[in-house]
Amino acid sequence: MRLLQKNLWMIALSWAMASASHAAPLVEPTLHIKSQASGAGRVALTLDACGGQTDNRILSALVDNKIPATIFVTGIWLKRNAAAVEIMRAHPDLFELENHGGHHVPAVDTPRKIYGIRSAGSPDAVLAEVESGAAALTGTGEPAPKWFRGATAEYSPSSIAMIRKLGFKVAGFSINGDGGSLLGAKETARRIAAAKDGDVIISHINQPTHAAGEGVVQGLLALKAKGLTFVRLDDAEGIGNNGTTE
Ligand SMILES: [Zn+2]
Repeated sequence: MRLLQKNLWMIALSWAMASASHAAPLVEPTLHIKSQASGAGRVALTLDACGGQTDNRILSALVDNKIPATIFVTGIWLKRNAAAVEIMRAHPDLFELENHGGHHVPAVDTPRKIYGIRSAGSPDAVLAEVESGAAALTGTGEPAPKWFRGATAEYSPSSIAMIRKLGFKVAGFSINGDGGSLLGAKETARRIAAAKDGDVIISHINQPTHAAGEGVVQGLLALKAKGLTFVRLDDAEGIGNNGTTE
């Protein structure tokens, strides 16, 4: 009897492992902007505002140095950061606000954990995350977003197709500037300063206590000193893989 139970347990375990490995692998799409014919080159800076607060070191540096950026905001962040939203709105030439979801739930339609965050887990929950993020933006008087970036920037191929059907382009990136805001200032600055014509940088603007934010500012100023220009996603032609933009 005991042996039978053990065998049944082993069978159940191997089924579970087989079904986990058969689930579609997640993708982390890349995004570039069309390269410039002449000049020192241009890059797109994208900053995620997942939740939490505002890194005013970055926000002030963008305003003071007239560096345009695309900010991916969640519904949660919008609610808690009215002062920062006011500053962004006062500079419509600099800031484009786009959709980072209603509740910062990864846009993956099967149940799993990504970097410790539970995925939406079903097609309906992915829809709800994308649509509530867009509604949070339009509800505060912002124009309807055209780009979506899900929490963790990982997706199942089927959820990418779903988000495209809703009319959004999916915003990947080509340079991971701050490693989820967890890198030190020096390494963050080094990564961002290495950006070349056509790159799309991702970093975070919602972690004012992290050292990475200081590195974001240093890296951007280094790029500016080299003569690179910055564009927002709505001012450039974005070229992504995995069916995210075409
Ligand atoms: Zn995020």
